[in-house]
Order: sequence, then structure tokens, then C-alpha cells
Amino acid sequence: MTTFSFEFFPPRTPQGERTLWDAIRRIEPLAPDFVSVTYGAGGSSRDRTIEVTKRLVTETTLRPVAHLTAVGHSVAELRHIIGQYADAGVRDVLVLRGDPPGDPGAPWVPHPEGFTHAHELVRLVKETGKFGVGVAAFPERHPRSPDWDSDIRHFVAKCRAGADYAITQMFFRVEDYLRLRDRVVAAGCDTPIIPEIMPATDIRQVARFAELSGAAFPETLARRLEAARGNPADGHRIGVEYATAMAGRLLAEGAPGLHYITLNRSTATLDIHRNVLNSRSAQHVLAAHR
Ligand code: FAD
Repeated sequence: MTTFSFEFFPPRTPQGERTLWDAIRRIEPLAPDFVSVTYGAGGSSRDRTIEVTKRLVTETTLRPVAHLTAVGHSVAELRHIIGQYADAGVRDVLVLRGDPPGDPGAPWVPHPEGFTHAHELVRLVKETGKFGVGVAAFPERHPRSPDWDSDIRHFVAKCRAGADYAITQMFFRVEDYLRLRDRVVAAGCDTPIIPEIMPATDIRQVARFAELSGAAFPETLARRLEAARGNPADGHRIGVEYATAMAGRLLAEGAPGLHYITLNRSTATLDIHRNVLNSRSAQHVLAAHR
């Protein structure tokens, strides 16, 4: 079955909270397969992830997937958070290692009583309860992986530790996704890898995200968005058009679903998703879903 899902982040301000819940209420009637909530780099934003996912369980019909990172936590703390999710009725966790807070590129230092890699947290979540577990995949290779062989080997080990599916880092070239998928299949692993779709509507924002994630950004798209700088309607049209084409091609190539980054706003993602649902090539793939 082809899935579609949306990603939110825990807001920092009351205005951010209103924007998030406005987006959630617009997305809810589409009955996505799940919605995910990212886990912050530290402190109160982590508590807000727990609060938002709890609220999604109690106040909506949506199925929340709570992101959880190992960074900065002891195993005992991780157990406690998993328990909080279970108490709240959250049954799905996206398990991540996380990056060093403040500077994602800084040397990785594990918590003295914590984990070093995501597969250890996958095992813990699976042992603790009956959770669906997702993990991260990197179409352009994880920035810390020295080569493709080790990257794929560790990804497959993470899947074998109990992951039910993976979601990719954002990317802007379909070929990168297809190459990753083919490498994983060639390594004997059939864990579904859901591509993440990032609406690229604003050159400043996308340049920042692409830099943070290491995702290569196509020059033609960058030029078109640059020309639309200061003109949000043009930026929106260009970003939606590009993401719709990517999403359609990914589905045609057999991607098991689409996971949309919303940045807590619904307009661009909903436009892309409507286009995907309406496009003829996508209809037969999505028919099983509706
Ligand atoms: P791992 O799978 O542990 O991999 C990290 C590196 O270690 C890789 O290079 C891998 O090849 C290597 N490795 C793995 N196992 C071994 C081993 N046994 N021996 C040697 N090397 C090994 N971050 C957040 O802070 N909050 C979020 O909510 C969040 N959500 C995300 C959602 C998605 C879909 C994605 C793709 C990323 C997300 N991230 C998030 C970012 C993520 O935490 C970072 O990209 C992090 O650097 C990698 O996490 P991982 O789970 O892939 O780590």
C-alpha cells in the first residue's frame, strides 16, 4: 500500500502553536497514514515533542509518529520517554541518533550511559513495547559515512535491528533516492524507504536547509527560485511544480509512499499532495489507498 504522511516540528511560541494546529486541522480531513513530530536538540523543545504527540492522540483522528533521538540521553532517560509515549497512546516512533546540539558537524560524543548508534535505540524501543519503528535513510549518504559500503552496511544493520520502514533525508534529485534504494535492495534488505518531499518555495530557506542537511540543490531550480526572490507567489508556484514532478516520478518508480515536510504550514504541501492525487500517473498507485 502506498502511504502518505506529513512532518511537523514542536512550535516555540503561542503564535507558532496556532500555526501548527491550523495546519494540522487542514491536513486531518485527508486522513494521512501518519503524521510525525520532530524531536528537538535539547531541553524544553524535547518536552514539546511529547506534548504535541500526546495532543495528537487525544484531540485528533491522526496517528502520530514521535521522533526520538539518542543524543544527550542516558538509556534510563530513553526508557522513561518511551514509557511516556506508551502511556499517551503513541504507538509509533521514528528512531534517530541525533547530532551534537549546537553544531551538527561537531565530533560525536555519546552520553556516558547512552547509545552510540541508532540501531541500539531501535532494539530498545522494540524490546520495550509493541511499537512501529521507523529509521532515517540518506539518499546522498550520511555526511559522517566515509564511503557507500559502510553507509549501506550500517543502514541494513539498523533495519535488521527491527525497523519496519525508513524515511529519507530531504533530497532534490530523484536519482539519488533510486540509487540508495537499489543499493539497499542489492544488500538483501527490503525495508520500505519512504522519500521525504520538501517544498522548495523560498530560496533563502531552502539554501539553509540544503546546507544543514547536505542535500545537493539543482542549479536550474536554484536559478528559478533566485529570480522569484521577494515574490512569494512565484516561489510557491515553482516549488510546488518541482515537488509535484518529483513526487509523481518517485511513485511511478515504486516508492512506497511520500512523507511531506510541512514546516508547520499546510499550503504548499497540500497543493503538492492535491496535484499528486489528481495526476493520472499517480492515480493507479494511490488507488489502493483511497
Ligand atoms: P545512525 O544510524 O546511528 O548513523 C549515523 C552514522 O553512524 C552514519 O554515518 C552511519 O553509517 C554510522 N554508523 C551506524 N552504525 C554504525 C556502527 N555500528 N559502527 C560504525 N558506524 C556506524 N534529528 C533530530 O535531532 N531530531 C529529529 O526529529 C530528526 N528527525 C529526522 C528525520 C529524518 C527522516 C531524517 C533523515 C533525519 C532526522 N534527524 C533528526 C537527523 C538525524 O538525527 C541525523 O541525521 C543523525 O546524524 C543521523 O541519525 P541516524 O539515526 O541515521 O544515525
